[in-house]
Amino acid sequence: MGGQPYGAETLCLDTTKLAHVLDFDTRAGTVTVECGITWEQLIRFLHAKQERVTGSWGIRQKQTGADDLTLGGALSANIHGRGLSYAPFVQDIASLRVIQPAGQILHCSRESNAALFRLAIGGYGLFGFVTELTLRLRSRCYLRRHVQSISSAEVFPVFESLAAEGHEYGDYQFNVDENSSDFLRAGILATYCPTDATPHQVQRNLSDQEWLAFLELAHTNRKAGYEKYRAFYLSTDGQIYDSDLHAFGVYLSDYSRHLASRLRTSRLSTLMITELFVPMAAFPDFMATAAELLRKPGAPVIYGTVRTIEADRETFLPWARTRMACIIFNLQMIHEPAELGGAINKFRGLIELAIVCGGTYYLTYHRYATDQQLRTCYPEFDLWLKEKRERDPENKFANDWFRAVAHR
Ligand SMILES: Cc1cc2nc3c(=O)[nH]c(=O)nc-3n(C[C@H](O)[C@H](O)[C@H](O)COP(=O)(O)OP(=O)(O)OC[C@H]3O[C@@H](n4cnc5c(N)ncnc54)[C@H](O)[C@@H]3O)c2cc1C
Repeated sequence: MGGQPYGAETLCLDTTKLAHVLDFDTRAGTVTVECGITWEQLIRFLHAKQERVTGSWGIRQKQTGADDLTLGGALSANIHGRGLSYAPFVQDIASLRVIQPAGQILHCSRESNAALFRLAIGGYGLFGFVTELTLRLRSRCYLRRHVQSISSAEVFPVFESLAAEGHEYGDYQFNVDENSSDFLRAGILATYCPTDATPHQVQRNLSDQEWLAFLELAHTNRKAGYEKYRAFYLSTDGQIYDSDLHAFGVYLSDYSRHLASRLRTSRLSTLMITELFVPMAAFPDFMATAAELLRKPGAPVIYGTVRTIEADRETFLPWARTRMACIIFNLQMIHEPAELGGAINKFRGLIELAIVCGGTYYLTYHRYATDQQLRTCYPEFDLWLKEKRERDPENKFANDWFRAVAHR
């Protein structure tokens, strides 16, 4: 990640024991939790309290690609899921409690301590320690997955028309074979629409071993890897998912070790994520120029996906000021000095392309953006730093990312 969770020579707070549910208000459809609760723990609580799926309360959005993440982390990065007409996570938060640098505990919402509410959400822990938060829930239901192969140029018109037909979630996973003329230009669109049907008796889901096998192919033979993955996804067309669970999936945190042993190499490589946002009209052009950049040698694209986000008009440092296309690339990073430079150039190059298209980038994941890129994409950044200085003059809450960007 971008160095936000850690700070050299600081005390790192491990929140994982702060994992209790404090209140479940079934009339209001909200749940109040301690900050260290993970999505899995919250879901376990909600499902234990409510036997029926349809009509009970469930979560609105979570990250995809990883599940063992806390709600405090989700709030502090102002995350997003794959809703077709959802704003970032701030939209789902009713209130929070924050410990201030001098020890004062404040309750924040849109009505009280509203300025701190806007700063703490998406504030990467720099505006205080969030002890608990109240989350807005949605009516839980079953969703039918619809899968089709389409070109990148069609993605947003299709998203828009399916959203108008009632599809609530969706994403587009694009071709990562850099030797193909379809590289970043074709992909698999999966959308999810509420249904009265219940899950089939036998549904295809990726096992850990299958996930690893796809990951291995994506490193060794991206043409075959993409084709097999596409075939797998198309075979899941029509499957039914619980709305609470459809964004859960396989993620093996020690994948790089498994991969190194399967590929018989001692070189450690991991995937580094980067996320760019561009206006939807600019998306096809962005993908075309990104393809040129990403075809260059080094740091290949192993996986990538596209989603959509509504504007965040609430947080102090919004990453989505208007409705945007969200484009996520996972690049292979070989952790050796000679290899890193090429990857860093690609990360910076992608941000530059997004800026040219009138877009921006996500602060989470890495800190390779140049100072100019940071300030272009986040014009409020200096005001944000001023707020930080005024509220926490001694920098009691700090992390490596903040130190890197604040003192440039
Ligand atoms: C494989 C993978 C897939 C991902 N997919 C998505 C995605 O689909 N959408 C998306 O938006 N993001 C995604 N992310 C990014 C992820 O949402 C963020 O990195 C998130 O912050 C991780 O949560 P965490 O619990 O690990 O938090 P940490 O990484 O531990 O913390 C993140 C930040 O929050 C701060 N923080 C944590 N708890 C508190 C608290 N209680 N009070 C104050 N500050 C706190 C930390 O100091 C740090 O700055 C993904 C990450 C990975 C690794």
